[in-house]
Amino acid sequence: MTDRQERAPCSICGELPERLVANTGRDERFPDAVYRLRHFDLDSDFDLARCPECDAWFEWEDERAFTGSGNNDEARLRRLAPETAAALRKLVDNKFEPGEEARLLAIASAGVLDSVARAVRRRISR
Ligand SMILES: [Zn+2]
Repeated sequence: MTDRQERAPCSICGELPERLVANTGRDERFPDAVYRLRHFDLDSDFDLARCPECDAWFEWEDERAFTGSGNNDEARLRRLAPETAAALRKLVDNKFEPGEEARLLAIASAGVLDSVARAVRRRISR
């Protein structure tokens, strides 16, 4: 901890690590902060979420175990890289220059799951 730029940690997502897994099949829950993120409702199995305070972006994935009792079902949350988040932010908020869309989509798609990238494409082409 030396001369890095001082920035107050986000009061919502500041405590969240880069990756989180919850064993939802065994009633494990994410920390409460996760439920304060704004979800996009892209799909029931995957989603994007953004922090209402600092606008960090997260990818959410629900993975059902298709064998056995479902006890191994997992939900995963991953903090997206800043460049991925920046591209998604512009696309979703419709704040990009004409002709910039393909480049932003390529950046965003490289940083998220294929299923998420397809859902984002569908959403912004509406
Ligand atoms: Zn935050």
